[in-house]
Amino acid sequence: MSTLSSRENWSRRAALLRPSGDNFIDGRYVAAQAHGRFDSINPSNGQLLAQVARSQESDVDLAVNRSLQAWRDRRWRGLAPRQRMDVLMRWADLVEQNTEELALLETLDMGKPINDVLGIDLPEVTRTLRYFAECIDKMEGSVTSTAPGALHLVLHEPLGVVGAITPWNYPLLMAVWKLAPILAAGNCVVLKPAEQAPLSCTRLAALFMEAGGPAGVFNLVNGLGPEAGRALALHPDVVKLSFTGSTTVGKLLLTYAGQSNMKRVALETGGKSPQVFLPDLYDLDAAVDRAIGGIFDNAGQVCNAGSRLLVHRDIHDAFVARFTSRAPQLYRPGDPLDPATTLGPLVSQAHRLKVQRCIERGIAEGARAVVMGEALSGHLEQGAFLAPTLFVDADNRMSIAQDEIFGPVATVIPFTNDDEAIALANDSIYGLAASVWTRDLNRSHRFVRDLEAGVVWVNCFGDGDMTQPFGGYKQSGNSRDKHMMSLMSYTQTKSAWMATT
Ligand code: NAP
Repeated sequence: MSTLSSRENWSRRAALLRPSGDNFIDGRYVAAQAHGRFDSINPSNGQLLAQVARSQESDVDLAVNRSLQAWRDRRWRGLAPRQRMDVLMRWADLVEQNTEELALLETLDMGKPINDVLGIDLPEVTRTLRYFAECIDKMEGSVTSTAPGALHLVLHEPLGVVGAITPWNYPLLMAVWKLAPILAAGNCVVLKPAEQAPLSCTRLAALFMEAGGPAGVFNLVNGLGPEAGRALALHPDVVKLSFTGSTTVGKLLLTYAGQSNMKRVALETGGKSPQVFLPDLYDLDAAVDRAIGGIFDNAGQVCNAGSRLLVHRDIHDAFVARFTSRAPQLYRPGDPLDPATTLGPLVSQAHRLKVQRCIERGIAEGARAVVMGEALSGHLEQGAFLAPTLFVDADNRMSIAQDEIFGPVATVIPFTNDDEAIALANDSIYGLAASVWTRDLNRSHRFVRDLEAGVVWVNCFGDGDMTQPFGGYKQSGNSRDKHMMSLMSYTQTKSAWMATT
């Protein structure tokens, strides 16, 4: 829990931080063997935050070997389920006890407003750890119905050494959505966090040890995707790769699996989620507020961001007017260490330029951009801030409606009937999430059935808890995080057929 309540307090606390960007292998921090490093930059002011290990193939090999040793000597899977459960529970407690440090690392490294980390990311991290801890001794195999003379057991066993590669938009949470079920199932794991925001995960690895996790069970290698990430994905001793990131890299990982050991590849990838607003919705103002949050939370750097707003023609003008007047009130850019800030910078200047290019392309294709922002002054002028943008006069074939922009940019597209809305919603290579806003139960059921998405929200957006399987249809992925099914996906079944007399 944190008692810090002002920007000044957080800044003072931040000045005391000495984050490690080393690897964490076999229970201790280690530099990359060739001593390569890269800079981790605070995107809100461009200042150097830490130097991070630039791991190569040999570092990844070391981490995988140590995990393989831990797997073979059964130091983790050989523990009683309750003992593993205790470790994960203590790990969750330690996350809470180190809230201020972890929140600061997240905010300074990727620019997320401190109150979002405290109110959203960290509580979700501890819920995830506790949920999967609680599942450990609830996993059961089965005895099937056989003829006399046989006893047949179906057992669920862990896989071995699992590799995890994660993105920067929710650095801790996306990692924990992998780590918790992987470890709960009894596997060992090597994590490669994103280069833009690796510091909180690096600290999390040390906290696993403090919680009583055996050395070598959870190793972490920092580095760049095409170097450390690629080496992990190609490693012959990694039996499964669990990935969250872009669709482009996800496709590459499938080829690496084919080139190496045919490892299983679980992909949670990109999205371009439609929100469908029907004219009979309950409350336009409330729905628009949720639409604004659905695209501007985390500065739009959210895989399921509701970036395509499909709005019935009867309410289109009122929707746009409300959206453009409310958004600047709800999302104010500022120093992410200020608890009043609701809109932080994008993760880097390079990403800001990429998003800007997408906006320019939308304008060139004929859509009209409504920019809703204020100029920033002082030290924040060096930050990767970008004003929120709403595109109108657009159609679904434009790049702004098809490409994942991953920034604070939404596109409004009008429609006239339900068939057209469903066709537009499904006209995408992605299928991560979707929503429909209506007071008609029958209509909402039809949308739930016909929308091609792994998650469909009705009269809400982004809601859920640990019982919700989270993952996509189509090119949004082939797997699910959260829920018991995620835990089971890190196991394999063994059939034990016993002849009896
Ligand atoms: P990204 O560029 O695909 O990177 C993701 C991870 O893959 C990073 O750790 C990256 O390392 C690594 N990587 C890059 N190239 C690689 C290679 N050749 N081999 C192995 N690993 C490689 O994605 P991002 O920009 O970090 O994250 C944004 C994307 O994540 C968006 O598309 C978003 O929709 C998606 N996402 C999906 C979900 C979901 O649940 N479906 C959740 C969150 C985010 P570097 O950091 O060094 O590049």
